[in-house]
Amino acid sequence: MTADGSMGTEALRPGQPQALPTFKMHVDGEWCESASGQWLETKNPYTGKAWALIPRGNADDIERAVQAAHRAFVAGSWASMHPSDRGLLLQRVADLIAANAERLAELEVRDNGKLKVEMLGQMRYLPRWFQYYGGLADKIEGRMPPIDKKGMLHYVSYEPVGVVGAITPWNSPLLLTVWKIAPALAAGNTVVIKPSEFASTSLIALVELFEQAGFPKGVINVVTGLGAETGEPLVEHPLVTRIAFTGGNIAGLRIYQAAARQFKRVSLELGGKSPNIVFADAAIDEAIKGVISGIFAASGQTCMAGSRLLLHSSIHDAFLARLVEVMREARLGDPNNPDTDVGPVATEQQLEKVLRYIELAKQEGARCVLGGRRADGPECGDGWFVEPTIFADVTNDMRIAREEVFGPILSVIKFDSDEEAVALANDTPFGLAAGLWTTDLARALALPKRLRAGTAWVNAYRVVSYLAPFGGFNESGIGRENGYDAIYEYLEPKSVFINPTPAIGNPFTLQ
Ligand code: NAD
Repeated sequence: MTADGSMGTEALRPGQPQALPTFKMHVDGEWCESASGQWLETKNPYTGKAWALIPRGNADDIERAVQAAHRAFVAGSWASMHPSDRGLLLQRVADLIAANAERLAELEVRDNGKLKVEMLGQMRYLPRWFQYYGGLADKIEGRMPPIDKKGMLHYVSYEPVGVVGAITPWNSPLLLTVWKIAPALAAGNTVVIKPSEFASTSLIALVELFEQAGFPKGVINVVTGLGAETGEPLVEHPLVTRIAFTGGNIAGLRIYQAAARQFKRVSLELGGKSPNIVFADAAIDEAIKGVISGIFAASGQTCMAGSRLLLHSSIHDAFLARLVEVMREARLGDPNNPDTDVGPVATEQQLEKVLRYIELAKQEGARCVLGGRRADGPECGDGWFVEPTIFADVTNDMRIAREEVFGPILSVIKFDSDEEAVALANDTPFGLAAGLWTTDLARALALPKRLRAGTAWVNAYRVVSYLAPFGGFNESGIGRENGYDAIYEYLEPKSVFINPTPAIGNPFTLQ
């Protein structure tokens, strides 16, 4: 807590720049402003207006946070805590999230404009990550391979990597942070989190819950601010040994390069241009819903968006006509309204980027069969809305089919055979996810193996679980989050040889 007893979130105090609520950073168990004393506005995509202030952190704040995380890692109650007790702390966080899901969801909707129903669903699911990894905390057992060194004892132990730097985007701010910090903390590490400058408030509220759960100071730190001013110094700090990043490929490449200079371990969850493939034998009405869920849910702002619809030529025209008809009925509007289907895009920059891609698709010769403009009806207020947009006659070499847009824009591409569908699906620099729709069991069994993507769904789309590894092939990233193996992403195996009789043979040869 701060000296006056307040926590990270509080109302305006005299002397602050504007009549907006302020949120604080959390460093070494204290709620604090940035070293510079500067603030950043966080805007509501539905109103287009600033609704809160977050501290504009810099390298000095990162320095304090990393030093605090390092101290907590090497000494003190966290460093000596039994894994079962770490697990119990994580379980307590799970309970607190469940009790505060509504508030966390409200903050996310205000920051990123995604539908309340979607964010509330995510918040209600979040406790599972802390329950699962909390349960795993005391089940990381060493191994004793049958070593071939006579008379020697050898065992493998798994040790936490140290201070983990977590850098996250705005689209699912807490979910994507929790995918990192739940296994990292369960493994005994400490963390410094740099949330997106566009969506930091829910994380600050989450860290209040960690404080209530009784986490020792320094174990979990949050520094808010811009990528260049806080993210870069976090990646470059020599005491940070592991970087866990979700975001775009431009930042991902910079982070990978900076981490390489110090040989840091990294995981990068990056973008995608995922195919959603509909075969002629698909259950058509369900496939239509699956295509909509892939690209128009969350206004297309998901890394796994099914932004390329591959349609078998025999059903192409009928399927497309039906899809357009259904999407014409989609209701745009206030993301808090339970009747809204499509909310705004999250930032003004994102709005401009999406509109640029719409123009580009038209120039490339794609045929716009739905939408294609900024949406500005009365239901959209002053928000950053784009009409759900569908382009037909797209070929897979067009930029609209190759580059990630991160908006409600669907490119439709025709195919004639399974071979062609697989070739088109895999013809992308990315490889995050792929959906396919078929009632043919042989095809359902055979094709997932042939798709070069980290996740394949058959007759489903946008399904994730704390139990299922998630991540990408190729330019969609490095490493996997979720599932049992993810905890090993935050552990270093160590080989220990113990020679009970200290007799060395020829010292000039390998023993
Ligand atoms: P972004 O890459 O612009 O920013 C992500 C985070 O990185 C932010 O916190 C930002 O401040 C920080 N950052 C930016 N430059 C940095 C630098 N040089 N060093 C350190 N940190 C830096 O991404 P975004 O616009 O917030 O999110 C959208 C992108 O995220 C999309 O490309 C999307 O595909 C991707 N994404 C991927 C997944 C996945 O799991 N694969 C999930 C969600 C989003």
